[in-house]
Amino acid sequence: MQKVLYAELLPHEFRARLAARPIAYLPLGTLEWHGEHLPLGSDAIQSEGLMIECARRYGGIVMPPIHLGPDRARPAEPGHMLYGMDYAASTTPARQLDGSCYWVPKGLHVMIVDAVLEQLKRAGFRAVFADGHGPSRTSWVENLEEREARFGLKLFGVTKDIASQWRSQVDHAARNETSLMMHLRPELVDLKQLSPDRAVRPVGVGGVDPRDATPEYGRECFERSLDLLLPLLKRWTA
Ligand SMILES: [Zn+2]
Repeated sequence: MQKVLYAELLPHEFRARLAARPIAYLPLGTLEWHGEHLPLGSDAIQSEGLMIECARRYGGIVMPPIHLGPDRARPAEPGHMLYGMDYAASTTPARQLDGSCYWVPKGLHVMIVDAVLEQLKRAGFRAVFADGHGPSRTSWVENLEEREARFGLKLFGVTKDIASQWRSQVDHAARNETSLMMHLRPELVDLKQLSPDRAVRPVGVGGVDPRDATPEYGRECFERSLDLLLPLLKRWTA
């Protein structure tokens, strides 16, 4: 199996991969509650998983994931669906978590990504694809054109031309993310943590019931996303 992770490459391997395909993949995420059945770092695990496969098929180098996300706590309102950070920030005692979720202010996240892009440019990369987790994805896409001009890099993301068909990380800890995790890292998923009683809705989950997740559906979502991304990258190098 070819090595594609930056952190695992020897310098000569880095130079060879960079020369062959000067594209970097930057997995984005956040550290947050993903239901009782998924790990807290699920977001960057999924984005990195997709990028590893993309790098194996197309070339390029997968950078270390940025697990820190540009999130913001909001006080939870009783009766409302609580997502991720909002869930963690709940003031309802029964819903308080153990403080395991954390994030950085959006401005700091932008600075971190800027610093990485600066270094990627210096290293000789010519393009970067970044994605993962709603707020991180949004922040990346909304700064895309300005950063392309500033850094002189071709930047790819889940932009509006492909967003409606994109199938990776399109819910919160529900059927999509759970299936992707079952495809990528089945040993990290534990559906037994959810009630077998279908009348009991899993807390802090947004989307189709995660108890309907399967690795086969995860693979399908994974492949359909790659089917969108790979042609974009190929057109760029054509
Ligand atoms: Zn997620």
